[in-house]
Amino acid sequence: MNEIINQPEFVKNDVDLQLLNTMACPSVAQFFCTILNVEQLKLAFEWAKQNNLNTHILGEGSNLLLANKIAGLVINIKITGLVINQSNQEHCIITIGAGENWHNSVIKLSEKNLNGLENLSFIPGSVGASPVQNIGAYGVEVGDLIQSVEYFDPQTNTVTQIKNTNCDFSYRDSIFKSGELQQVVILTVTFKLSNKFDPVNTYAGLPKEVSTSKNWIEYIGKIRWSKLPNPIDVPNAGSFFKNPIVTKHEFKQIKQQHNNIVSFDLGDNVKIPAAWLIDQLGFKGQINSDGIGCYKNQALVLVNTKKQSRDKILDKAIEIQKSVKQHFNIKLEIEPQLLG
Ligand SMILES: Cc1cc2nc3c(=O)[nH]c(=O)nc-3n(C[C@H](O)[C@H](O)[C@H](O)COP(=O)(O)OP(=O)(O)OC[C@H]3O[C@@H](n4cnc5c(N)ncnc54)[C@H](O)[C@@H]3O)c2cc1C
Repeated sequence: MNEIINQPEFVKNDVDLQLLNTMACPSVAQFFCTILNVEQLKLAFEWAKQNNLNTHILGEGSNLLLANKIAGLVINIKITGLVINQSNQEHCIITIGAGENWHNSVIKLSEKNLNGLENLSFIPGSVGASPVQNIGAYGVEVGDLIQSVEYFDPQTNTVTQIKNTNCDFSYRDSIFKSGELQQVVILTVTFKLSNKFDPVNTYAGLPKEVSTSKNWIEYIGKIRWSKLPNPIDVPNAGSFFKNPIVTKHEFKQIKQQHNNIVSFDLGDNVKIPAAWLIDQLGFKGQINSDGIGCYKNQALVLVNTKKQSRDKILDKAIEIQKSVKQHFNIKLEIEPQLLG
């Protein structure tokens, strides 16, 4: 290995990341830094480039599977701030720093009577990661409320703003996750929120009437935590598999074999709940001797009760994928991203 030169004081060596990922995978970063502003971010990338080091962006680690050892520099984004830019009678434009906690931001906005994000309350993670996989829950996706995203591009050393329409938001995906902006660092996210509380209640099981956004958020919390384990008690990364989307033609063939299959019509395509597929195969509540398996109340969530390595989690995931493929001829895709 080449000698490391000019290491800034804010870059630390051999940092333990087990407490910085909700799956609690044991993981050590060769180099690690916490970033509070864009100037520091530029310095971190400059230094990594000078020393030929790979870089990895970490938010709150709630949608990641970390390797045991991560070579290079892990950059933890902690840029803060919440600014109200413009408001009129109907709407408000608000810019939030990427390092702010997502749920706390939703609560702060709701207290200011800025509405629209309530159904996404209690989703773990940072504001900066929210556009990456276009977080969604209970009939709302964050891409519905984002106006623009400001990012730093380490290749060009520039800061740019991209409008919502160019972010390619789709189900658990965006230009930042699988498109041409995978290498950029999100600095701030700008939302267009409503001054009127008008909850989205189309998702089955949500009440038709609730008087305040505070009550609505409490209700969302209740239904969320009745199904999902809190990572503080049971390590997990939320939904481990994406819900597969197949063409109408493919669905017809699957239905011929499995008449009772659950599905949601998306127009040209059909969405099949991955939890239902996994449940049919008896994985729900089955935890192996490594403490890894599908959570008892929600088959889609893989839990890592004994804080095992990513490799062991992936072994279990592959077993589930193979079983679903064999039985239903459907490919399950893993939702969390691999880091390192
Ligand atoms: C219990 C539980 C429930 C969950 N429920 C939901 C849910 O209902 N809906 C949903 O969509 N997700 C859900 N998730 C997944 C997760 O909370 C979200 O994906 C969240 O947005 C991840 O935020 P994070 O800061 O932890 O990102 P991380 O896990 O740290 O990173 C995720 C990805 O984003 C990248 N990234 C992070 N910050 C930045 C940045 N500033 N710039 C560029 N890239 C960045 C990382 O490199 C990585 O590729 C759940 C997770 C858990 C543990």
